Amino acid sequence: MTVNGYAAKEPKAELTSYTYELDDIGPEQVDIKVHYCGLCHSDISMINNDWGMSQYPFVPGHEVIGEVIAIGNAVKNVKVGDKVGLGWTAGSCMSCSQCMDGDHHLCAESEPTIVGRNGGFADKVRSHWSWAIPMPDGIDMSKAGPLLCGGITVFNPIILAGVKPTDKVGVIGIGGLGHMALKFLKHWGCEVVAFSSSPDKKDAIKNMGATRVVNSKSPEELESIAGQLDFILNTTNVTLDWDAYLTALAPKGKFHNVGAVLEPMQIPAFSLIMGEKTVGGSPIGSPALTKTMLEFCVRHDIYPQVEEFPMHKVNDALQHLESGKARFRIVLKN
Ligand SMILES: [Zn+2]
Ligand SMILES: [Zn+2]
Repeated sequence: MTVNGYAAKEPKAELTSYTYELDDIGPEQVDIKVHYCGLCHSDISMINNDWGMSQYPFVPGHEVIGEVIAIGNAVKNVKVGDKVGLGWTAGSCMSCSQCMDGDHHLCAESEPTIVGRNGGFADKVRSHWSWAIPMPDGIDMSKAGPLLCGGITVFNPIILAGVKPTDKVGVIGIGGLGHMALKFLKHWGCEVVAFSSSPDKKDAIKNMGATRVVNSKSPEELESIAGQLDFILNTTNVTLDWDAYLTALAPKGKFHNVGAVLEPMQIPAFSLIMGEKTVGGSPIGSPALTKTMLEFCVRHDIYPQVEEFPMHKVNDALQHLESGKARFRIVLKN
């Protein structure tokens, strides 16, 4: 089968039309016709080979919303014609302890959608059936793409940390990931404090459900919230004043990191010890939790705020994201 997509031919290159052939479909594989594909910062990191694992020609795209057009003879869970989503992961071994425990996203053999294979900036993409997540009835397909990677990345920590509706929580960085976290936590029932370094976004942030916006550049404002938060989710990838945020936690509070900060995090041990606080992190989430998240989104009408570009304008979309002007996620439409 022929796939028509957009590929970078070398690191940092513009994407150009690229056609490739898929082998015969495997017994447990599904082919998905791409209707929409979200654009995630990881796509840019992979185009630029920031993580040293890109292979060229490289077709990005790992927030796919589409329709199953072909299945192998041992596929379960989905059939031709089903609407599905495909995120960061396109396959896992299905037999290791993590897979058997339902933590397929922690499988050492898992196959990322855009590492060593081609992604969703194309008319078709292939995956293992377990990662083709069925879309719940009533979902808005045009906005759902970013939920498959960014969305589940910030939803999983809410479950992992056992966040309760009565909790007072914080989200650091109200961008692509953070604005989804804010909406999830608001609908979870929490009182949500947003930490932002962009005062110009304050009204938009409050409209999305934050009860208070703290200027993360102001040590005085950070100090004013000391000891109050049960859970803080960091969505930024820069070095912060970690101690100030640990101080903002209430006793037994949890600081959870999903931003890929490259520098080591300097965490003072006493900031953890005295209040029994913990620091953790997580990647995406399991297929089952992704499905649960999508149902939660339909129930509460939670969607990322998206800007739509036609797929053939993919380079404009990439530039818009890189310029920092995207509000807040970009979706490409086929
Ligand atoms: Zn992503
Ligand atoms: Zn496995």
